[in-house]
Amino acid sequence: MSWKATVLTLFPSMFPDTLGVSLVGQAREKGIWSLDVRDIREHGIGRHRAVDDAPAGGGPGMVMRVDVAAASIDAARAGEPDRPSLYLSPRGKPLTQAKVSSLSRAPGVLLLCGRFEGLDERAIEARGLEEVSIGDFVLAGGEIAAMALIEACVRLLPGVLGCESSRAEESFEGGLLEYPQYTRPQSFEGRDIPPVLVSGHHEEIARWRRAQAEKLTKTRRPDLWSLYETRHG
Ligand code: SAH
Repeated sequence: MSWKATVLTLFPSMFPDTLGVSLVGQAREKGIWSLDVRDIREHGIGRHRAVDDAPAGGGPGMVMRVDVAAASIDAARAGEPDRPSLYLSPRGKPLTQAKVSSLSRAPGVLLLCGRFEGLDERAIEARGLEEVSIGDFVLAGGEIAAMALIEACVRLLPGVLGCESSRAEESFEGGLLEYPQYTRPQSFEGRDIPPVLVSGHHEEIARWRRAQAEKLTKTRRPDLWSLYETRHG
């Protein structure tokens, strides 16, 4: 059975967008994964299909209603196998490649995209949503975050990337950032490809790449570097 992403959103027309092109889009056409986008407003209240209301206790903006969010989740879950249910949220645990990799091994994901000031806390509790963030910045809605998560998961599904072995060397896979990449032309505005890469010495190339990856990680991401050192030191 193929990996399935269900997205609950107030703006279904934002999809598939980037998820419809290139390797990820082709994988969808091949049936490696499927996208089920649902409009939360279908579960809105009354004639105007209201989905939000003023925050209890006062303050700016509007909050997505718990009854609407819960009804939307329940409808999406009906008849589906158990899948991790996530609420995209700046308060969530920052998404990592390790988490992406584990989600890509699940039957799929159910993603709730917030808007406005966020979601009534009781929806998170009552439906057991896990909060995940795509970084320490605030978006206007969860849709772009959902697309980022889905795209990262789908490229790990078997048969999506052209070359499966390219994964092992990527940023984060081994706890390091990736080494610099080059391709033709050999010389550009006086900058040459590092000679070792055109030497044909596979061992030296591997050693050079490892050293570059370590140097980059050490200078750019001391947080990742100290984790790496603890593991490999
Ligand atoms: N008032 C909220 C922010 C609401 S932003 C707060 O301070 O926490 C509106 C919606 O955008 C959120 O409900 C969430 O679904 C989405 N969103 C914003 N930033 C995000 C991020 N960094 N990662 C994932 N989702 C995010």
